[in-house]
Amino acid sequence: MSTDKAPPMPGVEQPFLTLAQQLEKTPPCQAQCPNSGDVRGWLGIIAQRDTLGLSLEEAYDRAWEKLVQLNPFPATLGRICPHPCESRCSRGAKDGAVSINAMERFLGDWGIARGLALPPMAGEDCRESIGVIGSGPAGLSFAYQMARRGYTVVIYERREEPGGMLRQAIPDYRLPREVLDAEIQRILGLGIALVPLMEVGTEIPFDELRQRHRLLFLGMGAQSARRLRVDGETGPGVMAGIDYLVRRKHGQATGLGRSVVVVGGGNTAIDAARSARRDGAEVTLLYRRTREEMPAEPHEVTDALAEGVRFEYLAAPCRILRDERGVIGVEVQRMQLGEPDQDGRHRPEPVPGDVFTLDADTVLAAVSQEPGWRGFGQSDDGHDWLHTAANGKVADDLWAGGDDRGPGIASRAIAQGRLAAEAAHAQLRGLATSPRSRPAVDPASVKPDYYDARPRSGIRRRPPAEWLTRPEVEIDETLTSEEACAEAERCMSCGLCFGCQQCFMYCNASGFTRIAEPGPGYYFAMSLEACEGCGKCIELCPCGYLESRDGAGW
Ligand SMILES: Cc1cc2nc3c(=O)[nH]c(=O)nc-3n(C[C@H](O)[C@H](O)[C@H](O)COP(=O)(O)OP(=O)(O)OC[C@H]3O[C@@H](n4cnc5c(N)ncnc54)[C@H](O)[C@@H]3O)c2cc1C
Ligand code: SF4
Ligand code: SF4
Ligand code: SF4
Repeated sequence: MSTDKAPPMPGVEQPFLTLAQQLEKTPPCQAQCPNSGDVRGWLGIIAQRDTLGLSLEEAYDRAWEKLVQLNPFPATLGRICPHPCESRCSRGAKDGAVSINAMERFLGDWGIARGLALPPMAGEDCRESIGVIGSGPAGLSFAYQMARRGYTVVIYERREEPGGMLRQAIPDYRLPREVLDAEIQRILGLGIALVPLMEVGTEIPFDELRQRHRLLFLGMGAQSARRLRVDGETGPGVMAGIDYLVRRKHGQATGLGRSVVVVGGGNTAIDAARSARRDGAEVTLLYRRTREEMPAEPHEVTDALAEGVRFEYLAAPCRILRDERGVIGVEVQRMQLGEPDQDGRHRPEPVPGDVFTLDADTVLAAVSQEPGWRGFGQSDDGHDWLHTAANGKVADDLWAGGDDRGPGIASRAIAQGRLAAEAAHAQLRGLATSPRSRPAVDPASVKPDYYDARPRSGIRRRPPAEWLTRPEVEIDETLTSEEACAEAERCMSCGLCFGCQQCFMYCNASGFTRIAEPGPGYYFAMSLEACEGCGKCIELCPCGYLESRDGAGW
């Protein structure tokens, strides 16, 4: 029940104000989510289910339906998203942010267990043929948003199976493949055709595809690993971290040996280091800055430490040492932080004369990835990132999103796929696009003291002693239904009415009237004629929904 449009107000006559229409604000969680997820909306359906006349099952189904409108991968992102949404949650300072990521996972698993299908979009029946290159989260998100509008969508994928890095690289102990499979099959179930083992640019010319389809989406990600550029790098015993992860996921031999040095500080480096521990190696990770600057998620670093990965900060390889059998070690340059560069990051600089040696049988280089444009004709841009308009447009018939536009995370790839689809659809149908923009809720207007203290339901985890002995079993667990309900009820509904009745009960002028058929965000109507302008309702409204106009009550 979106509040994008004026909600129906049965039984409410003028001059009552349609509150939801006037006052809804963007909560901090939504503002921080790369995909602008309507977290408050889907949590609210569960928390307010009694008022809305929904059973618990109906509430979960409805919440899932709301969630998948923007994100068709809730069980996947509920496991791997670094959840920036939680970082500014208004509940944070009171008793811990709402466990949004765990809730997303709960609803994602609920949808899979119930076999819920992704609904096509009502009233849309477009027919043009759309081609998508790459079946990672960006390509699948674009394909989903077009297919649910009725377009005929074909995805070309160079690998045997769809999913991009989610399938090829992210280890099973973080994202079980059956979870990803279920969410991908549900998207393809909208009638999307997948052409596997079809590398565009080599197996089929890019220009031919451009002729074949009304419009193309480029979602090829960043598949090529950057090299270390040090002596001794070429030859057996040095592998790209991403290639190691892909081989491992395909059950191929990796021949690591006993001692592994991983170079890098991002997701790939940490996943490679933790996977190598699972393969029985002693692992040292070299990162040229300090832990504070590391791009990897802090909890991933903590988990890697718990699994016995050794971290050498302020350290960079300067030479790979070899004998006739292969790699025997790495010469490492000690670094120090120098002046900040143009991005404000302190530049690592060598400490003169401070070099040490580590034994190694294998070196895994995980210092970044970049896109490859072989065979892409006009779009051939070397290994540079693709430059597009903000909505992903390259040309009228060419759109793009995801890691080929710059390194990111899965929720950003999904967002870019969706935004490109919305804009491409608007272009094809000649529709005006008006960016949805609601003001942010004023943090000072949310009143945490109104809400009862309730501890956060965190994710339960298997005991660390089992992590390496059952190496591929998922570490984190899904919330129970009881925990999920309690967690949804912790949401303070920042910036949207949740029907607490404070205004209704304390307005001396009886200015508020209950709505006969309430919906999420609209429970009361307010009479401007009755209002005496005392501002009490604004003072009392706990979620910052009611606001003063010009500082003078209503
Ligand atoms: C090891 C690792 C761990 C990560 N961990 C996380 C995490 O925990 N959380 C998170 O949010 N993000 C994580 N990420 C980042 C995330 O996976 C990416 O941001 C996301 O997958 C990018 O999506 P994409 O669709 O743009 O590209 P990709 O996922 O790379 O998908 C691109 C697809 O295009 C295909 N393709 C490429 N070229 C062609 C061609 N010429 N023809 C046909 N098909 C082609 C590829 O085979 C691939 O399937 C991780 C990435 C890596 C490498
Ligand atoms: S996608 Fe990530 S940031 Fe967005 S709501 Fe989900 S967990 Fe939060
Ligand atoms: S309390 Fe709810 S609406 Fe407010 S920021 Fe947290 S999750 Fe979002
Ligand atoms: S006081 Fe409660 S019922 Fe009234 S507008 Fe605010 S949240 Fe809604």
